Amino acid sequence: MKMIRITCPACHVDSQMSIKDDLFYGPFVCWKCKKKMILRIEHQQVTECTPIDDEEYYAQLNANHIRRY
Ligand SMILES: [Zn+2]
Repeated sequence: MKMIRITCPACHVDSQMSIKDDLFYGPFVCWKCKKKMILRIEHQQVTECTPIDDEEYYAQLNANHIRRY
């Protein structure tokens, strides 16, 4: 289990997320401003952080079968 720090692209507040694997891809919501985004984490590094709208967020939730940590 690794703690990954994610800096929100909208409000620049840090969030922390724990992941079990080296790779993560899925939707993420900022705890502060509730901005929704798509995250890709590879080898404990955030390699993609793309803001998305509600519609895309829920589509991703349904599409990805996100592992719930
Ligand atoms: Zn934010």
